[in-house]
Amino acid sequence: DLRTALEQNQLTLYFQPQLDLRSGRIIGAEALIRWFKPDSSKEGGKFISPAEFIPVAEQSGLIVPIGEWVMRQACATAKKWHDAGQEIRIAINVSGEQFQQSDLVEFTRSVLEESRINPHLVELEVTESAFMEDIQQTIQKLKQLHSLGVELAIDDFGTGYSSLSYLRQFPIDRLKIDQSFIRNALNNSDDAAIAKTIIGLGRSLNLKVIAEGVETEQHEVFLLAEGCDEVQGYRYSRPIPAEKLETLLASYTGDLSFFNTKI
Ligand code: C2E
Ligand code: CA
Ligand code: CA
Repeated sequence: DLRTALEQNQLTLYFQPQLDLRSGRIIGAEALIRWFKPDSSKEGGKFISPAEFIPVAEQSGLIVPIGEWVMRQACATAKKWHDAGQEIRIAINVSGEQFQQSDLVEFTRSVLEESRINPHLVELEVTESAFMEDIQQTIQKLKQLHSLGVELAIDDFGTGYSSLSYLRQFPIDRLKIDQSFIRNALNNSDDAAIAKTIIGLGRSLNLKVIAEGVETEQHEVFLLAEGCDEVQGYRYSRPIPAEKLETLLASYTGDLSFFNTKI
């Protein structure tokens, strides 16, 4: 079915805004894949969650063509925004299996060239678990990607087993605090401590820190007080189609209280 999905254009990208916490501005968007699977017996169909089908795609090798489609589509969409004067960063998920592909760097280079996007406005999100197989090779690959001009983020930070000494050697730009820590930060002091520690770590290592899963104003107040740089979550917007993001970009003035009325 996933193979058919790719051939019959059943895949699409949604985008979730990322905001600078201090200025309130929308500075980026994460591309998140969606699969609408039509139902042959009835009219309509249903959405299948990427949490369900990305692991299947990884096991079957389909993650390679799917990942390529995502990168092309995300860069083409973001380039349209840039040409229209909205210079926001596009964050693209790269799965562990994709990261291990020997031609990831070459492929990324070719997509950047084809789309004529400014590489500094492209960020690749990779989880810690993708890094750890061969550290020297990981460092090498991250350096090659970085030299293309793209930014690099560690996704779900805090859930894998990160080695702090290697972290210094990785040419990364951003730590993305896993949403589990944010979800419980207000009622679990351990999770709050971990979130604060990651923010402090980022500051010491000169990395930006973005929190995901920010759902409420209380989460925002906590993160602002702790000095977190950027936020993403349902408080601001769920992942939405490109046209809806364009509408939001056009109407939003950069005042975070805009989101108070929505909840
Ligand atoms: P992720 O990269 O950690 O993405 C964040 C997930 O959290 C997304 O789920 C997003 O919709 C959800 N989320 C965002 N804000 C909130 C919030 O405030 N509260 C809650 N409860 N959830 C929030 P989604 O879109 O279902 O994606 C799930 C996972 O599937 C992603 O986790 C990522 O690992 C994978 N994925 C999605 N798109 C792609 C893709 O294009 N390529 C690859 N390789 N993986 C993808
Ligand atoms: Ca992600
Ligand atoms: Ca994540």
